[in-house]
Amino acid sequence: MAAVDLHSVAKSFDDVDVIGGIDLSVTEGEFVAFVGPSGSGKSTMLRMIAGLETVSGGRIAIGGQDVTYAPPADRGIAMVFQSYALYPHLNVFENMAFNLRLAKMGNDAIRSRIEEAADILQIGALLDRRPSQLSGGQKQRVAIGRAIVRHPRVFLFDEPLSNLDAALRVEMRLEIEKLHNALGATMIYVTHDQVEAMTLADRIVALEDGAIQQIGPPMELYDRPANQFVAGFIGSPKMNFLPMKVARHDGRTARLALASGVEVAIDLAGRRLDTGQQVVVGYRPEAVVLLRADDPLPDGASALPGRILTIEHLGNVSFGYVEAGTGTPVAVQIIGRTGHQKNDAVILALPSADCHVFDGRGQRPAIAAH
Ligand code: ADP
Ligand code: MG
Repeated sequence: MAAVDLHSVAKSFDDVDVIGGIDLSVTEGEFVAFVGPSGSGKSTMLRMIAGLETVSGGRIAIGGQDVTYAPPADRGIAMVFQSYALYPHLNVFENMAFNLRLAKMGNDAIRSRIEEAADILQIGALLDRRPSQLSGGQKQRVAIGRAIVRHPRVFLFDEPLSNLDAALRVEMRLEIEKLHNALGATMIYVTHDQVEAMTLADRIVALEDGAIQQIGPPMELYDRPANQFVAGFIGSPKMNFLPMKVARHDGRTARLALASGVEVAIDLAGRRLDTGQQVVVGYRPEAVVLLRADDPLPDGASALPGRILTIEHLGNVSFGYVEAGTGTPVAVQIIGRTGHQKNDAVILALPSADCHVFDGRGQRPAIAAH
C-alpha cells in the first residue's frame, strides 16, 4: 500500500496537449475513480502513473518516492486492463505466475501466492484452463488475480468491467469492492461509467479534456457539482438543464424567466445573481414532480406546463420525458403506478430549493459573504 502524488503532471502527443497539468494526492489505501467521457484523458493519466507512458511535465511519486522516470517494473504497481491482456498460450496458473517468474520468485512462493489469490477470487478450479476456455467474467478474474499475486503497492484499473454484460458488471463491481476491503490496497480505477465510480470510490476525480473538473466523495459531486459538466455527468437520467434569465431578485429569492415566458422561482441560498443575467438552472429528475393539470402545486414549487412525450417503465421506477418548451425534454422520475400516459397534458412542479444554478461559463456562482 502506498500513497500516489501527482504534481503538475502534463502530457502532450505531437504538440497536442492532452493532460493539462494535474495535481492530485491519493492517500494510502484510498479508492479513487477517474471518471469522464471517452477521450478525456483517463487512460493516459493511468498509463503515466504506471510508467507505460512518459510524462511531458510534472512529477509522480509513489509511497513518497519519485518514480517519474522509473520503469513500470520498479513502481510497485499492477494494472488490470479492459482487454484482460492474458497470454493465450499459457494456462491460468502460468498467466498468474508470469510476472513472478520474471522477478525470479521461487516455485513454492509462487504457488502459495497464486493459491491465495485464487482463493480470494474463487478461481481455484480454473488454474489448468487456457484463456480460450474461460468466460469473460472468468478472464477478468484471472486478470485481477495476476495483479493480486504481485502484492502491488498500488492497483491500477482501466475500465476493467466494460467488456462484461450488465449483470456480470454488477457482480464484479461487488467483487472489486470486497477486494479493496480485504486488501486495504490503494486503488486507482478508470471508468466512463458514473455508476461504477459512484458505487466504488472513496473519492471521484471528474475529468474533462484532460483537466480535473472536481474532486470529492461521490455524494458531494452529486449534491454539489462544481459546474455543469459534473452536474450532467453524474446521475442517470442526467440532470435537466433549463436556460433562464434572471427577471428580478431580492436577497432571498429570484424569479427567472424561460424563453417561453414562463417564470420560475428559486431560493437564492446565498448565490449572487444579477438582474438580466443568463443562467442555466439544473433540476434532477427526482426533484421534479409530475402533476395532472388540476393537482395542487406543492409548497415552494413553480408550475411548468407540458406534454408527456414518452414514459420509460423500469419496473420499480418510471421516467417521464416531458416537452415543456425548454429546448430538450424534461426528465421526471415517477414513483408508483400513477396512470400517466403518453401525450397527457401535465404540470411539472419545479422546486425552488432543490435546484442547481450555473452561470454563463457553466460554473456554480459564488456564494455572497454574510
Ligand atoms: P480516455 O481514456 O479518457 O478515453 P485517453 O487517455 O485514451 O482518453 O485519450 C485522451 C486523448 O489523448 C484523446 O484525445 C486521444 O486521442 C489522445 N491520445 C491518447 N493516446 C495517444 C497517442 N498514443 N498518440 C496520440 N494521441 C493520443
Ligand atoms: Mg481509456
